[in-house]
Amino acid sequence: MNGKDNREKNQSNAQTQQEPFKMNAREAVLLDANEPGAYEVIRTMGESPIVIVCDHASNRIPERLNNLGLTDEQLASHIAWDAGAAELARKLSARLDAALILSNYSRLVIDCNRPAGHPESILGQSDNIVVPGNADIDKLEASRRSRTLLDPYQQAIASVISRRDRDNVRLLSIHSFTPSLHGEERPWSIGVCYNHTEQVSSEWAKKMLTGLRTRVGATEDKIGDNQPYEVTEDCDFTLTKQGRKPGIPNLMLELRQDKISDDLMVQRWCNIIAGCCEYSD
Ligand SMILES: [Zn+2]
Repeated sequence: MNGKDNREKNQSNAQTQQEPFKMNAREAVLLDANEPGAYEVIRTMGESPIVIVCDHASNRIPERLNNLGLTDEQLASHIAWDAGAAELARKLSARLDAALILSNYSRLVIDCNRPAGHPESILGQSDNIVVPGNADIDKLEASRRSRTLLDPYQQAIASVISRRDRDNVRLLSIHSFTPSLHGEERPWSIGVCYNHTEQVSSEWAKKMLTGLRTRVGATEDKIGDNQPYEVTEDCDFTLTKQGRKPGIPNLMLELRQDKISDDLMVQRWCNIIAGCCEYSD
């Protein structure tokens, strides 16, 4: 997700009045001993052939990075994470008995869904909000973040997949998106996103879309077919690396954030998606 609204623009203006940002960038270690590691794995040996991943699960910033110079309100906004995605992924994992890998740190530290060195890997600005702690990042600092967070997260996904039957495993990525982007409303409650050049993923997407339409029925919820985004090799590192390249069917589900903003709503979508996953198999 990459949205903006007026509230965030105001935050951006406020940002310029803050004290200059200071960071201990030269220390070799990024995480303190009392901080969690790069990722969390749940149900490593779950029975489901589906492996769930959540790239933007958390808005946590390593203590040594001093919140990257951002306010608490900025860190709570969609620029830092996909609000609601982790809760949905956890419920889905429990319901399906599916393995789940979640990133433990904010996409603003390093985006776990971009390859290292990608222009969007470590953003100096996101939706008009300057990220002071990402200004003038040198190769050493970029490498420290990649080594500490991105690489272990991706290795954990590869490890979980490697324990499964290659002919049966599927990869499901859970994200959430902001309801309004550049002044345009995004009408979909949920989007099924895939790379249309991959036959196995497109076939799974069709089944998922059919299942969703059946279950959502006549409610007001609109279902996006490759909306709000299509999965691309350039921007979707996790699905490309872990799914496309080894030939594993892979999908991204994008939930609109106001549709999963409380526990009841999360449970509703968990039930709907879980039904579709069983249908898809
Ligand atoms: Zn996301």
